[in-house]
Amino acid sequence: NFEFSQLGRELAGGSGIGELMEDLGHALAAGGDHLKMLGGGQPANIPEVNGLWHRRMEEIMAEPGALEKAVANYDPPRGNPAFISALAGLFRERFDWPVTDEHFAITAGGQTAFFFLFNLLAGPMPDGRRRKILLPLVPEYIGYANQGAFGDLFTAVPPQVEKTGPHEFKYRVDFDHLEITDDIAAICVSRPTNPTGNVLTDGEIQRLSELAKSHGIPLIIDNAYGAPFPNIIFSAATPVWDDHIILTLSLSKLGLPGTRTGIVVAHPEITRAVAEMSSVVGLANPNLGQAIVRPLLESGEVLRLATEVVQPFYREKSRQAIGWVEEAFGENFEYYIHRSEGALFLWLWFPGLPITAAELYERLKKRGVLVVPGHYFFFGLGDTPCSYRDECLRISYAMGEGAVREGVKILAEEVVKAWKHL
Ligand code: PLP
Repeated sequence: NFEFSQLGRELAGGSGIGELMEDLGHALAAGGDHLKMLGGGQPANIPEVNGLWHRRMEEIMAEPGALEKAVANYDPPRGNPAFISALAGLFRERFDWPVTDEHFAITAGGQTAFFFLFNLLAGPMPDGRRRKILLPLVPEYIGYANQGAFGDLFTAVPPQVEKTGPHEFKYRVDFDHLEITDDIAAICVSRPTNPTGNVLTDGEIQRLSELAKSHGIPLIIDNAYGAPFPNIIFSAATPVWDDHIILTLSLSKLGLPGTRTGIVVAHPEITRAVAEMSSVVGLANPNLGQAIVRPLLESGEVLRLATEVVQPFYREKSRQAIGWVEEAFGENFEYYIHRSEGALFLWLWFPGLPITAAELYERLKKRGVLVVPGHYFFFGLGDTPCSYRDECLRISYAMGEGAVREGVKILAEEVVKAWKHL
């Protein structure tokens, strides 16, 4: 019986994201179609995208010294200098942002970037205060929930719910209930949002940015699915950056999750701190993903890939999945899908569901369908009531057609059954 520290208990004491990644990793490792894996954030294997990775690996092998640079060397903790220069060039040219190489830091995946950023800014402060990260709209990414090294980090606000169609709704930031108190260290949103597929409007982002700026705190925008890559975004949304905005990106949803490559774009004081943290925790970052993608940033091919291959692929997957949900539930059953504006997920809401979504998850798991019950995404609420947190769930539409279609059919059967057995 080992005694674990407070940090040990926080990080190793079990978490939603830990369970989800166990489910996902084992399902993918086992292969086969017996499991309908609608649970995780695994991106699709898109043949044209994988073809490009093959080509790039062959180019790296053929170029004298390139393989050695990519796998036999440590990079500086901030990231590969040539990769960072290519990134900075892309953002200056494409978005006209006034960024230099010092505005960037690479991390071992976006997940690690969030661990560093949240704990850098919030938690116990040297003067005894305790600061928090404000999530202006939950449900929000499950992967943030357990990242506090010294206990809970979040305070959150439930959304305004707007019905936008007979079976469709959209969440909006409830600005009337958003209060930036002295203990708020930063505001954080994912855009597009995991789990809902919501894309905060330009107006919402502008208001959040102004609120953050006027309170002298950062606005963190998690752009794991956003522009310019992977650009899994189906609605109009302008990417923004400013001195007080911390933007994160990732190569994962472009199709390289195994390379663990996250990108932070922020004020140099922040990126310097992130680089320092990378050196303490991991010495340097994985560099193969950076080596694969760097020439694609320089040539602009990454933009073509995102816009002409990745985005249309997921747009079509989303459209198909919505069609299967509609077919499985029929017109008269009361269910709602969050308007699908980006990312890899459909967020379903069953008002009055007689069992919790957690129980529904268990029943579906027994039938070989993995989903993620919604309550995991409603963290940071404290005592704030949120009646529908147990009535929602997330499904991914990134997996093969058969798995998604069959998974949705079984989901509908179990939901309908939950009402019949009242
Ligand atoms: N942020 C969001 C919103 C995500 O959905 C994910 C992964 O699913 C991440 C960050 C972290 O991804 P990665 O660490 O693979 O970059």
